[in-house]
Order: sequence, then C-alpha cells, then structure tokens
Amino acid sequence: MSFQKLADGMPGGFFIYHATGEEEIIYANEAMLRIFECGSLEEFRELTGNSFRGIVHPEDLEYVEESIREQISASRYDLDYVEYRILTRSGAVRWIDDYGHFVHSETAGDIFYVFVGDATEKKKRQAEEKERLLREKLELIEGLSIDYESLFHADLDADRIQAYRVSDRVAEQFCTGHEVCRFTGFDAEYIRKWVCPEDRAALAGVSDPAFIREKLSKDRKYEVNYRIQKDGKTEYIQLRVVNVGSGQEVSQIVMGYRDINDEIAQEVKQKQVLKEALDEANRANKAKNRFLSNMSHDIRTPMNAIVGFTALAKKHVEELEKASEYLDMISSAGDQLLQLLNDVLEISEIESGQTYVEEKKCRVTDILRQVQEFTHPRAAGKNIRVSVDIREPEHNVVMADQQKLVMILSCLADNAIKYTGPGGRVSIAAEERKSPREDYAVYRFRVEDNGIGIESEFLEHIFEPFERAQNTTMSGIYGTGLGLTIARGIVELMGGSIEASSAVGRGSVFTVTVPLRISVCPQAPAPLRKADAEEDPGAFAAEGIRILAVDDNQINLEIEEEVLKEAGYLVETAEDGSVAVEMVRHRDPGYYDLILMDIQMPGMDGHQATRVIRKMEDPQRADIPVIALSANNSEKDRKASVESGMNAHLAKPLDISLLYELLQKYLKNGGRE
Ligand code: ADP
Repeated sequence: MSFQKLADGMPGGFFIYHATGEEEIIYANEAMLRIFECGSLEEFRELTGNSFRGIVHPEDLEYVEESIREQISASRYDLDYVEYRILTRSGAVRWIDDYGHFVHSETAGDIFYVFVGDATEKKKRQAEEKERLLREKLELIEGLSIDYESLFHADLDADRIQAYRVSDRVAEQFCTGHEVCRFTGFDAEYIRKWVCPEDRAALAGVSDPAFIREKLSKDRKYEVNYRIQKDGKTEYIQLRVVNVGSGQEVSQIVMGYRDINDEIAQEVKQKQVLKEALDEANRANKAKNRFLSNMSHDIRTPMNAIVGFTALAKKHVEELEKASEYLDMISSAGDQLLQLLNDVLEISEIESGQTYVEEKKCRVTDILRQVQEFTHPRAAGKNIRVSVDIREPEHNVVMADQQKLVMILSCLADNAIKYTGPGGRVSIAAEERKSPREDYAVYRFRVEDNGIGIESEFLEHIFEPFERAQNTTMSGIYGTGLGLTIARGIVELMGGSIEASSAVGRGSVFTVTVPLRISVCPQAPAPLRKADAEEDPGAFAAEGIRILAVDDNQINLEIEEEVLKEAGYLVETAEDGSVAVEMVRHRDPGYYDLILMDIQMPGMDGHQATRVIRKMEDPQRADIPVIALSANNSEKDRKASVESGMNAHLAKPLDISLLYELLQKYLKNGGRE
C-alpha cells in the first residue's frame, strides 16, 4: 500500500507543508477535508489559499506561529504542539489540536508533518468546566462574605479598586458594580457622610495605602471597629482588610465592611453579666467573711462563758445556790453554741440537697397550735402577746411535712418575738386560697409583729445566708443570720415561697405560701404534744421499766444513765453494739423494755446491732423499741435509722424533755407508732 493511500485512510487529519516561504501545503488527507467540510482537495486548497496560514484562524495565527517557532527551537526532536481555531467552508469555527514535526529534507527542503484532531468538543467541555469553577468560586465568595454589607478588591500598585458588593445604604458614596475606580480617596465621601466625627481620622488613617502596606507586611489581616450615625442612632461597623496577594510586596487586598451591632450588644451584655457575677461573688465573699467573724465572735462569747463559769462553779462548789446559777449560765452558753452548729449544719444540708420533704396527713390547725406552744414560753418571758388564729380553713386536713412547717413558722414567730420590744404584739394566721392544681389548695401563713422593723435596703438581702441587720448585731440579740435562709430553703423545697415586708419602727410581716395537697379523709393522726411531758411529768410511771443504754463514750453513757435514773427507770449499759446484742440475747424475753442506741460505735454500730435484734426469733426480743441517739442528725441519718429498724432518732446532745416524751410514747404503745 502506498504512503498516500495509508495517509488518506487515517481517521485523524494529517497534512504536510513547507516550513518556509508561503508555507505552501504539500499534502492534506481525507480526514483533513472532512474537518474543513471540503468535498475535494481543490476546494480545500481554495479555502486555505493552499497555505498553512490559511488553515489557522486569522486571529490565532500570530501566537500559533510564534509558539511553533519557540517550541521547535527548544525541542530536541523538533516537535511542537499548538491549539488554534479554524474556519470551515461553511464559516463554522472549530478547535484543532496540532501535533507538528519539523523535518529538513535534502529533496523537499524544510517541511512540517502535522497530525490534527478536532478539539472542538474538548474545548467546549473545558470552557464549561472553567465556567463552573468560576461560578463555584463566586458562590464561595458570596457564602463567606455574607456578613459583609460592602466588599472590595483593590490593587494598591495600580491604585485601583473594584467593588464586589456595595450596600444600598452607601452605594452613592462608593463606585458601584464592576466599575474600576482610583483607590486613593475612594472612601473619602463615605467617611464624611456616615462616620461619626470622632472616628473619621482613625478610619481614614487605616485605609491609607501606606498604612495598609505597613500593617499587612506583618499580619495577613487586620480589623478596625468604628461608629457611624444612622437615623440619628450610633451603630458599629467593622472594616477588615486582608492581604490576598501571593508576592512579597503588599498590593492585592480585599476590604470588607460589616455591621457588628449584635456582637457589640452581646459583648456589652456579657460584660454586664460578668460584672454582676463578680459583684455577686464579691458580695457573697464579704458576707462569708462577715459571717466567719460573727461566728468566731458568737462562738467565743459562749465559750468564754462556759470556761469562766465552769471555773467559778468549781470554786464555789460548796455554795449550792451560786454553783447552780453558774451551771445555768454554762447550760445557756452551751445551747447557743449548739444552735449555731445546728444552723450551719442545716444550711449545708439544704445547699447540698440532702434535705427532703416528707408529706404525711396532718391538720393545718395542728400546725398553728404547735407553733403557738413553742412560742408561748418565750413570748410570756418578754411580755409579748401572741395571738394565733386557729379557725379551721375550708380544707383543714392536708398532706404536708408538719414538722418542717412548724419549724419554719416557729422560726418566724421566734424572730417576731426577738425583734419586738416588751409589751408588743405578734399575730399568726393561716388562710386558704384556691390552687390551679386539682386536689391542691394554697395556704398562706402570716406572722406579723409590731417590732423594730427592717430597713428596706436590708430587706432585699434578708433571706441570704449570714445576713443580719446592723441594729440586731449591735444590740447584742443573739442570732446566726441563718434562720431565714433555712426557712426559705425548706419552703422552696415544698414548692412554695416566702416574703417579707416591713416598716422601720412599725413592724414586719413574713408570709409563707405553700401549695398543699388536700386530703379527702379527715382522719389525721392526733398531734404529738411536746408539752404533755412538761405539763404532766408523772403521766407515765417509769417504775420497774428497764432501759438498755448503749454508747461507746463513757461520759455520754453516764449522762444517759443519770437522766434515766432521775426519771425512775432501771438502767443497764453496754459499750458497743455487739455487747448490747449479747445482753438482749442472754436475758429473758421482755427483760429490757427499750434500748437507747448510739449509732457510731467501734465494732458493731447501732444500725447493725438493731438489725440483728430485729431478726431475733423471739418476738418480744425482736420488737424491743429502739431509739437512736446520734450526733449526726441529718435527714439522711434519720432515714438510715428508720431503715435499720429503729423506732425513732434523737439528736445529741440530749433534749431531755423530748427523750422523756419518746420514752413514754414507745413504752405505752409497746413500740408501735
Ligand atoms: P437571726 O435571727 O438568727 O439573726 P434570721 O435569718 O432569722 O437570723 O434573721 C436575719 C435577720 O433578719 C435578723 O438578724 C434580723 O436583723 C432580721 N429580722 C428577722 N426577722 C425580723 C423581724 N420580725 N423584725 C425585725 N428584724 C427581723
């Protein structure tokens, strides 16, 4: 097969032309004619002027020839590759891939062999891809710059700036659209029209080319916040300038302007919150320091009394009347210390979530009666008339933590008496209101006095821990400043609230509002009347009743023994749980009528000992009433005692009248509640 036949049959274009002179075409194959839409070689020669120059689109010719020259002189194998447009016979524009080989032949001179492919489709795809990438880039810019109301690209070397986006508000002052403007002074009009006079010089300074170059030579970007005047209001704008060039010198930059009002407002708010938190922390710290100094003082005073009067009592031990007086003083100082410790413990239990509300069926009137009984001795001692309105509310039987409500109201009544002069009046009442919750009613307990009253400034802090009014501390009225904090903590646990109002010199009103479930069955248990024991100490005969007192502390044991014997009981003692268990086991059933059990003891503790006793086979032994006696008196401790099978939990140091009351209760009932 001849070379021409082979070349004519090739699927791609192929042609040969002279590299010099007119660049005359020597040969073009069939595929070449197809690409140029020519029916014959004659037509092709006519269309192209039979020259390579006629093949290339006139607009591309110059760079194509230049490129071929450069490539051939640089190529070891005299090869070149160019892309260019052609015009077909119908006038259509098509793209061509041109792979040329320069050859010097002795016979034909300098010639080019060229293989050609139609690259129109490829070019179209490339153009589409380029357009897609550009579109994506623009979308990316759009997305990232969404916060910027105005955005510019500038070339400092060329002193040119072009807006990418300009907000409507400032459009008049900046060159808009894709118009290219001079960078120098591009923002002068904007600064004059919008920027607050105080910030004008600063903004002009930071958008000065010399400043920008200096600043961006060190950092990639910088920001400046300034204020503008809009509709008579001050707003905050941030200018961010970013170096987007890749060279050493700073020239290509992007400038963005965005509204930062929300951020500034948020910042101001956060600062305010921080300031308040700091103030609060400082205040709490001061209150704690004050409390510590109060407490040290409050502890030192009774301690001095105890130490001093003990010395005096020892000295005057022969003079019974004097010694007894000193012992009274010691006892009262001891009570004060105990009150202080109990309050601190109580508050820490409330704060650490260890206090629980135990709802049981009770009567609102009983709550009031108990408060009256607790308050009576103190009020009488100070000649204050306490009136308690014990009229039954519509729903008198409720589910409530009677003990805690009595405690709260007694604390308020106690304060009312404490801070009211002799001859004053205190009134206590309860009022029922409707509750939005079904089966519930809202009860408002009111404790009112006509005492010294409370300054309004102090009233705001009255429920905070450790707070005591100046006049109370100065006047020497004893207190810890924790009573009301404890009261509020418990009322809130009950889902209620506590409020105070007052007028100096006229008196105060404390109101406790709690929602309580109304009980349908009016069979509330009869109240436990603490006064019973005091009023009628002989109500129960102690004769022949044997109590086992268990405690590892010898002094405690002695006190218990003394107190019990005084009341007429027979007493035996054990120094730990296992000894007590053995004593119960080896004595006849029913030998011991009741056990007073310490909790924390080495070896077998009070809870373990009670569990062992409760499991004893003989029911008389297993059912012996056990009363816990413990220095730990939290809600949790009381619960633990009940769970181990004990009948009651009594706090140490001993409240003797309460002990007698419990003894009578359990001895009468044979241990049943
Ligand atoms: P305490 O009475 O132990 O100091 P509280 O927390 O019960 O502590 O009361 C805090 C302070 O509130 C008291 O020190 C007193 O200054 C003031 N206060 C409480 N109740 C009254 C009242 N009824 N009249 C006047 N001041 C009161």
